[in-house]
Amino acid sequence: ELWKLNTLDSAQAYLASPGNNVRLQNYIGNEFSEHSNPDSWIESLNPRTGEVIANLPRSDASDVARAVDAASQAFPSWSKTSRQARSDILLRIAAIIHEEKETFAVWESLDQGKTLSRARVEVDRAISNFRYFATYILHEEGSARFVDGQPSTLTYEHRSPIGVFALISPWNMPLYLLTWKIAPCIAFGCTGVAKPSEVTSITAFLLGEVFRQAQLPPGVMNIVFGDGPGAGSTLVKSPLVRGVSFTGGTKTGISIRRDTVEDIGKHLSLELGGKNPTLVFDDVDLDQAVPIAAQAAFENSGQICLCGSRIYVHRAIYEKFISALVDYVQQHYRCGETVGPVVSRPHYDKIRSYLLQAQSEKAAFLTGDVPSEAPTGGYWIEPTVLTDLGTDSIVMHEEIFGPVVTVSAFDTEEEAIKLANDNPNGLASVLLTKDGSRMRRVGERIDAGLVWVNCWLVRELGTAFGGMKASGTGREGGAHSRDVFTNLRTLHVR
Ligand code: NAD
Repeated sequence: ELWKLNTLDSAQAYLASPGNNVRLQNYIGNEFSEHSNPDSWIESLNPRTGEVIANLPRSDASDVARAVDAASQAFPSWSKTSRQARSDILLRIAAIIHEEKETFAVWESLDQGKTLSRARVEVDRAISNFRYFATYILHEEGSARFVDGQPSTLTYEHRSPIGVFALISPWNMPLYLLTWKIAPCIAFGCTGVAKPSEVTSITAFLLGEVFRQAQLPPGVMNIVFGDGPGAGSTLVKSPLVRGVSFTGGTKTGISIRRDTVEDIGKHLSLELGGKNPTLVFDDVDLDQAVPIAAQAAFENSGQICLCGSRIYVHRAIYEKFISALVDYVQQHYRCGETVGPVVSRPHYDKIRSYLLQAQSEKAAFLTGDVPSEAPTGGYWIEPTVLTDLGTDSIVMHEEIFGPVVTVSAFDTEEEAIKLANDNPNGLASVLLTKDGSRMRRVGERIDAGLVWVNCWLVRELGTAFGGMKASGTGREGGAHSRDVFTNLRTLHVR
């Protein structure tokens, strides 16, 4: 039924009828099935209206065990499937999502609150995730050579898929991030159980149908819906699960590490939070720098782990920059047009608490304000530009993950680097400068897994993605994803 609701109008008309919402089912062994406790559901709300958009299973330990068993049983044969066969299936999956692109984009936009145009970009990226790894696995190079000084002894590194993976994703870019894990997992011969965020699960449900249509063999990828402390934690702890690829908050990353600490051989890849700096030097053209800084702050209502939420500007251009930024934000970032609501009521309350804190610290609100305590008609927060906060304010240090940016001044390059690095996180950063030697001089000293110079959110899927410090451990992308999903043994053969 969902496939037919492939325009915003038809989907919204469906949801407007009393009692109509999307009822999800777990996808296990290539079949949609009821979860074991038929009375246990999670309500997911529409961020634009606050009304129920979906009911999803609150899966329990027995549902998780069923999915893990299915993945475990599928592993021996899937891990031996030829690269060509795996590549073909990945391309079939990509083709089906491509065909249904608008359905995915409509439901992603309704479920998460993002604009339809942003949702389309993310569905395209989900398609690329499958296409990229479909091609990658066909072009892997081996490492065979003779042992130095021993021409009769050949040595080589042999990779084998690790086993069953738990793939756990957050709510901010639901399909994009879940497929960034699913595609390499099945490409490199592993099987898995995916658990999307309980806040935004609809496109993962659609993905189950894609796997069925693409004839992915039963059990290779299973999708279980539920909450973090229940389904998520049970999944991570299962002894049959040999690896975890997790994207989400740092606190959850810590729980996962704690939950798995005794199972030393369980592989962990953790992509966590960020509080990313944007450094603006005094040689920039404001008409080029301001749109990049603004987009980095407010894309997807600031709900991207890579958003630049702390702007530091050279004092020589500080006043001019601020005034240009405020003009730009007022013109280009409007709620209901280019800016969607934030994802949920708890998240709205969390962002609001940081804005109350900023107010109590006498911050200047150059745009935006503290939003209402009791929102009606969705979870809307105006794009907010704050100045006049002290360098040790928690508003400047903790991840807010909403449409809120702080701006402050620096005097020297050295001070800019110090301010940028004075944070527990180390995910991403933006440098805006025209000075070629500064790009490298500063770029190579920032504590961040990703450094963008005069651009933002550019990605090359073969390069490393991941964070330093509290932003995570491990890297994904190209060969780095291969390293996540495969074990390496070195053979010496005489
Ligand atoms: P979250 O950590 O609350 O939840 C993420 C996922 O983990 C959800 O599916 C949730 O159900 C599950 N989960 C929760 N507790 C769990 C537990 N104990 N064991 C196993 N699974 C559990 O994060 P969120 O609020 O959904 O997402 C926002 C966070 O994600 C932000 O901090 C953001 O920076 C981060 N993020 C990071 C990246 C990155 O690539 N580094 C990308 C996007 C988002």
